[in-house]
Amino acid sequence: MTKFALVTGGSRGIGRAVCVTLAEMGYNVLINYQSNEAEANKTLALVKEKGVSGEIMKFDVSKLEEVTAVLDTWIQANKDNQIEVLVNNAGIRKDNLMMWMSDTEWHSVMDIAVDGFFYVTRLVIKNMLVKKYGRVINIVSLSGLKGLPGQTNYSASKAAVIGATKALSQEVGRRGITVNAVAPGFIKTEMTQDLNEKDFKSLIPMNRFGEVQEVADVVGWLASSKSTYVTGQVISVNGGLYS
Ligand code: NAP
Repeated sequence: MTKFALVTGGSRGIGRAVCVTLAEMGYNVLINYQSNEAEANKTLALVKEKGVSGEIMKFDVSKLEEVTAVLDTWIQANKDNQIEVLVNNAGIRKDNLMMWMSDTEWHSVMDIAVDGFFYVTRLVIKNMLVKKYGRVINIVSLSGLKGLPGQTNYSASKAAVIGATKALSQEVGRRGITVNAVAPGFIKTEMTQDLNEKDFKSLIPMNRFGEVQEVADVVGWLASSKSTYVTGQVISVNGGLYS
């Protein structure tokens, strides 16, 4: 049996660092992306440099028909292989004050974070339950814990995934599956490139934005067999910004 890790939104940013970290741990990596094939292929090359295999997988996590067509098809065709680690990382921001927020801004953010978590995890958890082992790690946000103005959509979506993390962990704990969330603060990726670090760093006790690897290292630990008795938790990686 070959062991795989699936990372949604693995083409760029935090997801890419997570893919490479899981590859270093010996996992073959399924790299999901939505549209940026060139960046997904860069992640694939970095994964292969670690001596494991990988595959890029194009589907929009918020579209059930795409998740089914691509991911379920892979699962059915790979009965001897096991996705042991699932990292639900795909996400977008569409900030606006609530009074100006469009239906599209609300639904796109909610659908990718919440429906995406649901569609992908529901498929992958089945084999984890059969094999009695699995690691599900959901990338949420400081915004889902604290709430941030201009992000009612994003805060609501991440808070929903935190609730789902806690509920699912209680459903599957007896089967050796852990379900945890990692809540980054401000991390240097394309998602935060419109934010000036100079304007925000004084708010952060560590006085800087975080690096993607600092998030990936925590995900790697949660994905490893060293985190056996940790489940239903939200681990913040935010330089001390939230407590
Ligand atoms: P990023 O650099 O903007 O990358 C986003 C990734 O998500 C890309 O790989 C993108 O794929 C993928 N994606 C977007 N919509 C998708 C969809 N519908 N289906 C499948 N994949 C999709 O973002 P990031 O900063 O690395 O963020 C990663 C996660 O961390 C997100 O959940 C975000 O909310 C969370 N987070 C980030 C920060 C931060 O400061 N950066 C803080 C807290 C939480 P394409 O390349 O194909 O577009």
